[in-house]
Amino acid sequence: MEIMTVTVTIAGLAMIAIPNMIHARETAQQKSCVETLRRVRNAKEEFFMENHLPATHTPTLNELVGADKYLKTTPQCPSGGAYSLGSGTEEPTCNHARHSLDQSGGS
Ligand SMILES: [Zn+2]
Repeated sequence: MEIMTVTVTIAGLAMIAIPNMIHARETAQQKSCVETLRRVRNAKEEFFMENHLPATHTPTLNELVGADKYLKTTPQCPSGGAYSLGSGTEEPTCNHARHSLDQSGGS
């Protein structure tokens, strides 16, 4: 009977703890991704200003990423989402459902 109680208690704790751990991990990844999107946005702003490009231009990773460029390393989503840089009038986006600059509560 006692073993039963212990087993049920552990199972109950696991049911509470595991979704929380998954949620915490997702939240951390989302924050990290939004931080990356912010860096991409800043890099794009610098890129457009320095190169006097029309806002309709859509930069490529080659234009932004490099040791002497606006981003030192290729931006990567911690959840494996794919980034779209967007044109000069668009925000960079991640195709992961919960990763967006809009959801970061402003800049
Ligand atoms: Zn992402």
